[in-house]
Amino acid sequence: MKQKVTKIGILSSGGDSPGMNAAIRAVVRTGIHHGLEVFGIMRGYSGMVEDDIIKMESRSVANIIQRGGTILKTARCKDFFEYEGRKKAYNNLKKRGINGLVILGGDGSFRGAQIFSSEFDIPCIGLPGTIDKDIAGTDFTIGFDTAVNTAVEAIDKIRDTADAHDRLFVIEVMGRDAGYIALHSGIATGAENILIPERKTVMNDILDSLEEKEKRQKLVNLIVVAEGDEFGGAQEVANVIKKKLPNLEIRVAILGHIQRGGSPTCMDRLLASRMGYHAVECLVEGKHNVFVGIVNNKMHYTPLNEAVKKKQVISQEWMKIVKILST
Ligand code: ADP
Repeated sequence: MKQKVTKIGILSSGGDSPGMNAAIRAVVRTGIHHGLEVFGIMRGYSGMVEDDIIKMESRSVANIIQRGGTILKTARCKDFFEYEGRKKAYNNLKKRGINGLVILGGDGSFRGAQIFSSEFDIPCIGLPGTIDKDIAGTDFTIGFDTAVNTAVEAIDKIRDTADAHDRLFVIEVMGRDAGYIALHSGIATGAENILIPERKTVMNDILDSLEEKEKRQKLVNLIVVAEGDEFGGAQEVANVIKKKLPNLEIRVAILGHIQRGGSPTCMDRLLASRMGYHAVECLVEGKHNVFVGIVNNKMHYTPLNEAVKKKQVISQEWMKIVKILST
């Protein structure tokens, strides 16, 4: 017989993503709606280990739905990798009577939650908060839409100056293992080439097409590169091109952390609100140790022990479209 959940904790862990605050708000208010006591755990699992836990009221989450970052802060916690650290964390929850947890983070945070819930009698629910959109079991993750829209806005601006000077820009977006931000922002900004970790780059093809464009005076070109592409980022790609085509004016722009910040888009706020609501419903209904996803616009629950990074399969069709539309 599962113990009834009466007091819950919410934490944000690992890499931050815009929309985390909207998810925290949804969890707190849905919890209170169900008559639960809700606690905010500061700095991810660190707050659990170090007993940095605060009581949350409905007003604690007022005026945050539009804010990037996370009011609970986030961190990577070494102690949580060890049983001793997790035991300490458990004791800190137990002394307050917290008997349910919502973990907002990426696949690493879900792994921590899975191990914790298998060792101790505290059910855990994961909420996918990552700009990389690389978790199997959900079509969307909280923060991706904002990050990709930030990238699109920045790349559009770069195109203006590239156009004014007839330059080739190599633009690096975030994505160490996943190329979703590069793929989506590259297509949406009309990039000539998109380099992502999941797909082998044939540099000769890129060089041939740049050479051909140079001949017909098409000098404004954008190449969008995910930071984890096989060449090691935008600067390396630019170096290779410069060596082969020394006449080209090349500039490199690395978008960096602006992609993590900023006000979440409407899409991310809705996603976070819906997922946050369902995380608490799961705890109340006894659907434990899963993470909340959305597949084909329906709620989808994946056991935490099956939460893995999604290896993206980029359809050849997308690449064909990129090529045809960017001539
Ligand atoms: P993300 O959730 O963004 O993928 P990380 O992979 O850095 O971020 O994980 C966040 C935190 O989750 C880690 O710092 C650690 O505290 C916890 N964690 C990750 N993997 C494990 C694990 N195998 N065992 C215990 N805790 C883990």
